[in-house]
Amino acid sequence: MKKGKKLYEGKAKIIYTTADKDLAIQYFKDDATAFNNLKKSTIEGKGVLNNRISEHILNNLSQIGIKNHLVKRLNMREQIIKIVDIIPIEFIVRNVATGSITKRLGIEDGTVLKEPLLEYCLKDDKLGDPLVAEEHILMFDWATKQELEKVKKMILRINDFMIGMFWGVGIKLIDFKLEFGRLKTNGKTEVILADEISPDTCRLWDSITDKKLDKDRFRKKLGDLIPAYTEVARRLGILHEQSNVSAVNVTKLRSIKKKK
Ligand code: UDP
Repeated sequence: MKKGKKLYEGKAKIIYTTADKDLAIQYFKDDATAFNNLKKSTIEGKGVLNNRISEHILNNLSQIGIKNHLVKRLNMREQIIKIVDIIPIEFIVRNVATGSITKRLGIEDGTVLKEPLLEYCLKDDKLGDPLVAEEHILMFDWATKQELEKVKKMILRINDFMIGMFWGVGIKLIDFKLEFGRLKTNGKTEVILADEISPDTCRLWDSITDKKLDKDRFRKKLGDLIPAYTEVARRLGILHEQSNVSAVNVTKLRSIKKKK
């Protein structure tokens, strides 16, 4: 499938049109941003790892009946996705308090929450993605009551599934961000999961040491991000080589082994 023109360029991804009006190609960049774009950098290999990790998680979610926008991964950096009308809300799911909630509400970092906590942020970079209430979402028609109810049910299943998936490989799922979009098929509209799920959008801590295996390594200058993302991919069974080897190098290693 050939890339057409650029439809949209975000902080970590670019979306291109294809010959099929219902499908797009999503390209994973190596760019990393934090604090609403105030901190920026390029981290070689990040896009490759996020492409693989997100594919793995979305495919697993499909298998438990969570419909999502991924059609298939095309190559190291690209996926074919269904074009959806994105609901302009970032759905933040928290199992343990850390990050913005600890500063906003004075909750102690690392507090285990007695239930998953769902927060809504308006997707608007100029406003700094402000926290909004369900009432705002309904008042300003960002989503309908029915859509919100459906999304909440999906989120609880996604959270349960992902907690188990990561727990099984020695990782605690602390919090994450989800996005949903409306998909029209045969005149019917349904809400499906969209966007990526990766260490860029989740907080993942090693279950024994609490070592951060996510974008906080970049946000908080905790050290290299690639070995941590590679470790997540390796534990999920996506990469079979030793940790500390980037996905890019893994490909090189494979071709060297073949030559031998
Ligand atoms: N998150 C994200 N994109 C955003 C904001 C948050 O993927 O634009 C994710 C973030 O990686 C974390 C969770 O959502 O896993 C909760 O983030 P928080 O509100 O604590 O954000 P902070 O301001 O601390 O990054």
